[in-house]
Amino acid sequence: MREYFLRIVLTVVITPVLLSACSTTSRYAVTDLGQAQWVDLSHSYDASTLYWPNNVKGFEHVEEFKGTTPGNYFYSSYSISTPEHGGTHLDAPIHFSEKGLTLDQIPLSSLTGNAIVVDVSAKASRDRDYLIGVDDLIAWEQRNGQIPTRSIILFKTGYGSKYPSRKEYFGTEKTGPEAIPDLHFPGISAQASTWLVDHRQPKAVGIDTASIDYGQSTDFQTHRILLGNNIPGFENLANLDVLPVTGAYVVALPMKIAGGSGGPLRIVAAVPKATGQRD
Ligand SMILES: [Zn+2]
Repeated sequence: MREYFLRIVLTVVITPVLLSACSTTSRYAVTDLGQAQWVDLSHSYDASTLYWPNNVKGFEHVEEFKGTTPGNYFYSSYSISTPEHGGTHLDAPIHFSEKGLTLDQIPLSSLTGNAIVVDVSAKASRDRDYLIGVDDLIAWEQRNGQIPTRSIILFKTGYGSKYPSRKEYFGTEKTGPEAIPDLHFPGISAQASTWLVDHRQPKAVGIDTASIDYGQSTDFQTHRILLGNNIPGFENLANLDVLPVTGAYVVALPMKIAGGSGGPLRIVAAVPKATGQRD
Protein backbone atom coordinates (compact mmCIF):
# COMPACT_ATOMS: atom_id res chain seq x y z
CA MET A 1 0.00 0.00 0.00
CA ARG A 2 2.80 2.36 0.97
CA GLU A 3 4.64 1.50 -2.23
CA TYR A 4 1.50 2.15 -4.29
CA PHE A 5 1.08 5.52 -2.58
CA LEU A 6 4.70 6.43 -3.33
CA ARG A 7 4.22 5.53 -6.99
CA ILE A 8 1.17 7.78 -7.18
CA VAL A 9 3.15 10.63 -5.61
CA LEU A 10 6.00 10.10 -8.09
CA THR A 11 3.69 10.02 -11.08
CA VAL A 12 1.24 12.75 -10.19
CA VAL A 13 3.44 15.21 -8.34
CA ILE A 14 7.06 14.77 -9.33
CA THR A 15 6.77 14.02 -13.05
CA PRO A 16 5.05 17.31 -13.95
CA VAL A 17 7.63 19.20 -11.86
CA LEU A 18 10.45 17.51 -13.78
CA LEU A 19 8.75 18.11 -17.13
CA SER A 20 8.22 21.79 -16.42
CA ALA A 21 11.83 22.13 -15.30
CA CYS A 22 12.97 20.59 -18.60
CA SER A 23 10.72 22.78 -20.70
CA THR A 24 11.92 25.90 -18.88
CA THR A 25 15.50 24.97 -19.69
CA SER A 26 14.85 24.12 -23.35
CA ARG A 27 12.90 27.35 -23.92
CA TYR A 28 16.15 29.27 -23.76
CA ALA A 29 18.62 26.92 -25.37
CA VAL A 30 19.38 25.27 -28.67
CA THR A 31 20.81 22.09 -27.20
CA ASP A 32 22.35 20.63 -30.39
CA LEU A 33 23.76 23.08 -32.95
CA GLY A 34 24.17 20.20 -35.40
CA GLN A 35 20.40 19.74 -35.46
CA ALA A 36 19.50 23.45 -35.56
CA GLN A 37 18.48 25.51 -38.56
CA TRP A 38 20.60 28.58 -39.30
CA VAL A 39 19.03 31.96 -40.06
CA ASP A 40 21.10 34.71 -41.68
CA LEU A 41 20.54 38.03 -39.88
CA SER A 42 22.93 40.01 -42.14
CA HIS A 43 22.16 42.01 -45.26
CA SER A 44 24.65 41.57 -48.13
CA TYR A 45 27.26 44.27 -48.76
CA ASP A 46 26.87 45.69 -52.27
CA ALA A 47 26.24 48.95 -54.11
CA SER A 48 22.84 49.33 -52.39
CA THR A 49 24.21 49.04 -48.83
CA LEU A 50 22.83 51.85 -46.67
CA TYR A 51 25.16 54.14 -44.73
CA TRP A 52 24.37 57.01 -42.39
CA PRO A 53 23.49 59.99 -44.61
CA ASN A 54 26.64 61.96 -43.84
CA ASN A 55 28.99 59.14 -44.87
CA VAL A 56 30.71 60.42 -47.98
CA LYS A 57 31.64 56.98 -49.26
CA GLY A 58 29.66 53.77 -49.38
CA PHE A 59 30.75 50.19 -49.93
CA GLU A 60 33.40 49.84 -52.63
CA HIS A 61 34.17 46.50 -54.22
CA VAL A 62 36.75 47.03 -56.93
CA GLU A 63 37.89 44.35 -59.31
CA GLU A 64 41.65 43.82 -59.35
CA PHE A 65 41.59 40.87 -61.70
CA LYS A 66 38.95 38.59 -63.15
CA GLY A 67 39.59 36.21 -66.01
CA THR A 68 42.00 33.70 -67.41
CA THR A 69 45.60 34.02 -66.30
CA PRO A 70 48.67 33.47 -68.53
CA GLY A 71 48.84 30.03 -66.86
CA ASN A 72 45.39 29.29 -68.36
CA TYR A 73 43.39 29.03 -65.15
CA PHE A 74 40.59 31.25 -63.84
CA TYR A 75 41.36 33.78 -61.13
CA SER A 76 39.39 36.63 -59.52
CA SER A 77 40.28 39.09 -56.77
CA TYR A 78 38.78 42.37 -55.53
CA SER A 79 39.61 45.05 -53.01
CA ILE A 80 37.03 46.38 -50.57
CA SER A 81 36.55 49.67 -48.76
CA THR A 82 33.76 50.64 -46.38
CA PRO A 83 32.98 53.03 -43.53
CA GLU A 84 32.79 51.05 -40.29
CA HIS A 85 29.13 51.91 -39.65
CA GLY A 86 26.84 50.84 -42.48
CA GLY A 87 24.91 47.83 -43.63
CA THR A 88 24.62 45.12 -40.99
CA HIS A 89 27.31 46.18 -38.56
CA LEU A 90 28.44 46.20 -34.96
CA ASP A 91 28.88 49.26 -32.76
CA ALA A 92 31.82 48.72 -30.42
CA PRO A 93 31.65 50.44 -27.01
CA ILE A 94 34.40 52.93 -27.97
CA HIS A 95 32.04 54.32 -30.65
CA PHE A 96 30.39 56.46 -27.93
CA SER A 97 32.51 55.73 -24.85
CA GLU A 98 36.08 57.01 -24.72
CA LYS A 99 37.32 54.21 -22.47
CA GLY A 100 35.05 51.54 -23.97
CA LEU A 101 36.23 48.36 -25.64
CA THR A 102 37.40 48.53 -29.24
CA LEU A 103 35.87 46.08 -31.68
CA ASP A 104 38.69 43.55 -31.41
CA GLN A 105 38.57 43.68 -27.59
CA ILE A 106 34.93 42.60 -27.26
CA PRO A 107 34.94 39.13 -25.70
CA LEU A 108 33.48 36.37 -27.86
CA SER A 109 31.21 35.51 -24.93
CA SER A 110 29.40 38.86 -25.51
CA LEU A 111 28.88 38.07 -29.19
CA THR A 112 27.44 34.57 -28.79
CA GLY A 113 24.53 33.38 -26.70
CA ASN A 114 20.84 32.87 -26.20
CA ALA A 115 18.68 35.56 -27.77
CA ILE A 116 15.20 36.88 -27.12
CA VAL A 117 13.14 38.85 -29.65
CA VAL A 118 11.02 41.81 -28.55
CA ASP A 119 8.46 42.49 -31.26
CA VAL A 120 7.29 46.11 -31.45
CA SER A 121 6.41 45.99 -35.14
CA ALA A 122 2.69 46.75 -34.67
CA LYS A 123 3.41 50.01 -32.83
CA ALA A 124 6.36 50.91 -35.08
CA SER A 125 4.29 50.45 -38.25
CA ARG A 126 1.87 53.12 -36.98
CA ASP A 127 4.58 55.50 -35.75
CA ARG A 128 7.88 55.99 -37.59
CA ASP A 129 9.26 57.75 -34.49
CA TYR A 130 8.31 54.94 -32.09
CA LEU A 131 10.50 54.76 -29.01
CA ILE A 132 10.70 51.31 -27.45
CA GLY A 133 9.91 51.77 -23.76
CA VAL A 134 10.24 49.96 -20.44
CA ASP A 135 6.55 49.04 -20.85
CA ASP A 136 7.43 46.97 -23.95
CA LEU A 137 9.98 45.03 -21.89
CA ILE A 138 7.54 44.52 -19.02
CA ALA A 139 4.84 43.36 -21.48
CA TRP A 140 7.33 40.88 -22.99
CA GLU A 141 8.10 39.50 -19.54
CA GLN A 142 4.40 39.18 -18.67
CA ARG A 143 3.95 36.94 -21.73
CA ASN A 144 7.23 35.04 -21.69
CA GLY A 145 8.74 35.19 -18.22
CA GLN A 146 11.69 37.22 -17.00
CA ILE A 147 14.35 38.06 -19.58
CA PRO A 148 17.31 35.91 -18.52
CA THR A 149 20.37 37.95 -17.53
CA ARG A 150 23.20 37.92 -20.10
CA SER A 151 20.80 37.48 -23.04
CA ILE A 152 21.28 38.96 -26.49
CA ILE A 153 18.23 41.18 -26.92
CA LEU A 154 16.94 41.72 -30.45
CA PHE A 155 14.29 44.33 -31.17
CA LYS A 156 12.03 43.66 -34.15
CA THR A 157 10.46 46.84 -35.53
CA GLY A 158 9.56 45.34 -38.91
CA TYR A 159 11.67 48.01 -40.66
CA GLY A 160 14.16 45.37 -41.82
CA SER A 161 11.75 44.54 -44.65
CA LYS A 162 12.09 48.13 -45.96
CA TYR A 163 15.86 47.76 -46.44
CA PRO A 164 17.56 48.89 -48.74
CA SER A 165 15.00 51.51 -49.81
CA ARG A 166 16.56 54.69 -48.39
CA LYS A 167 13.22 56.52 -48.37
CA GLU A 168 11.27 53.71 -46.71
CA TYR A 169 13.99 52.73 -44.28
CA PHE A 170 15.37 56.13 -43.20
CA GLY A 171 12.24 58.14 -43.88
CA THR A 172 14.07 60.38 -46.37
CA GLU A 173 15.86 59.97 -49.66
CA LYS A 174 18.15 62.90 -48.91
CA THR A 175 21.84 62.37 -48.24
CA GLY A 176 24.39 64.60 -46.55
CA PRO A 177 24.04 66.52 -43.29
CA GLU A 178 20.73 68.07 -44.40
CA ALA A 179 19.14 64.58 -44.29
CA ILE A 180 19.74 64.17 -40.54
CA PRO A 181 16.71 66.19 -39.31
CA ASP A 182 14.48 64.18 -41.66
CA LEU A 183 15.43 60.74 -40.30
CA HIS A 184 12.33 58.94 -39.06
CA PHE A 185 12.64 55.37 -37.83
CA PRO A 186 11.99 53.66 -34.49
CA GLY A 187 14.62 53.02 -31.82
CA ILE A 188 15.22 52.14 -28.18
CA SER A 189 14.46 54.75 -25.51
CA ALA A 190 17.04 55.85 -22.95
CA GLN A 191 14.72 54.60 -20.20
CA ALA A 192 14.51 51.09 -21.69
CA SER A 193 18.29 51.03 -22.14
CA THR A 194 18.88 52.04 -18.53
CA TRP A 195 16.33 49.46 -17.32
CA LEU A 196 18.09 46.71 -19.25
CA VAL A 197 21.52 47.70 -17.94
CA ASP A 198 20.26 47.92 -14.35
CA HIS A 199 18.04 44.83 -14.27
CA ARG A 200 18.90 42.33 -17.04
CA GLN A 201 22.58 42.98 -17.96
CA PRO A 202 22.32 42.00 -21.65
CA LYS A 203 25.36 40.72 -23.52
CA ALA A 204 24.43 42.78 -26.58
CA VAL A 205 21.45 44.57 -28.10
CA GLY A 206 20.36 44.50 -31.76
CA ILE A 207 17.72 46.13 -33.95
CA ASP A 208 16.43 45.99 -37.54
CA THR A 209 16.83 49.75 -38.09
CA ALA A 210 19.85 51.94 -38.87
CA SER A 211 20.49 52.83 -35.22
CA ILE A 212 19.72 51.67 -31.69
CA ASP A 213 18.67 55.31 -31.08
CA TYR A 214 15.59 56.44 -33.01
CA GLY A 215 15.94 58.59 -36.13
CA GLN A 216 14.97 61.83 -34.40
CA SER A 217 17.59 61.47 -31.67
CA THR A 218 20.05 64.33 -31.40
CA ASP A 219 21.92 63.22 -28.27
CA PHE A 220 22.24 59.45 -28.90
CA GLN A 221 21.48 58.59 -25.29
CA THR A 222 20.85 54.91 -25.97
CA HIS A 223 24.25 54.58 -27.65
CA ARG A 224 25.85 56.36 -24.69
CA ILE A 225 24.07 54.22 -22.07
CA LEU A 226 24.57 50.79 -23.67
CA LEU A 227 28.03 51.32 -25.13
CA GLY A 228 29.00 53.18 -21.92
CA ASN A 229 28.36 49.87 -20.13
CA ASN A 230 30.44 47.93 -22.68
CA ILE A 231 27.30 46.45 -24.26
CA PRO A 232 27.80 46.28 -28.05
CA GLY A 233 25.02 47.15 -30.52
CA PHE A 234 24.00 45.34 -33.72
CA GLU A 235 22.34 47.55 -36.33
CA ASN A 236 20.57 47.03 -39.66
CA LEU A 237 19.68 43.43 -38.82
CA ALA A 238 17.80 41.26 -41.35
CA ASN A 239 15.27 38.44 -41.06
CA LEU A 240 14.26 39.00 -37.43
CA ASP A 241 10.75 38.04 -38.58
CA VAL A 242 11.71 34.37 -38.79
CA LEU A 243 13.19 34.10 -35.30
CA PRO A 244 11.23 32.61 -32.41
CA VAL A 245 10.55 34.86 -29.42
CA THR A 246 12.88 32.68 -27.36
CA GLY A 247 15.11 29.74 -28.21
CA ALA A 248 17.47 31.23 -30.81
CA TYR A 249 21.23 31.02 -30.29
CA VAL A 250 23.07 33.95 -31.88
CA VAL A 251 26.61 34.06 -33.25
CA ALA A 252 27.66 37.62 -34.18
CA LEU A 253 31.16 37.89 -35.61
CA PRO A 254 32.34 41.28 -36.89
CA MET A 255 35.44 41.74 -39.00
CA LYS A 256 38.25 41.90 -36.44
CA ILE A 257 39.45 45.47 -36.94
CA ALA A 258 42.14 46.36 -34.39
CA GLY A 259 41.09 49.55 -32.63
CA GLY A 260 37.82 49.66 -34.59
CA SER A 261 34.78 51.62 -33.38
CA GLY A 262 32.60 49.18 -35.31
CA GLY A 263 32.61 47.08 -38.41
CA PRO A 264 30.79 44.84 -40.88
CA LEU A 265 28.97 42.08 -39.03
CA ARG A 266 28.05 38.58 -40.09
CA ILE A 267 25.39 37.54 -37.64
CA VAL A 268 23.50 34.27 -37.71
CA ALA A 269 21.04 32.54 -35.41
CA ALA A 270 20.53 28.86 -34.76
CA VAL A 271 16.89 28.04 -34.17
CA PRO A 272 15.07 24.80 -33.42
CA LYS A 273 14.23 23.24 -36.83
CA ALA A 274 10.47 23.71 -36.60
CA THR A 275 10.63 27.49 -36.02
CA GLY A 276 13.15 28.62 -38.68
CA GLN A 277 11.94 29.15 -42.21
CA ARG A 278 15.20 30.08 -43.92
CA ASP A 279 18.42 28.15 -44.14
ZN1 LIG B 1 26.90 51.97 -35.91
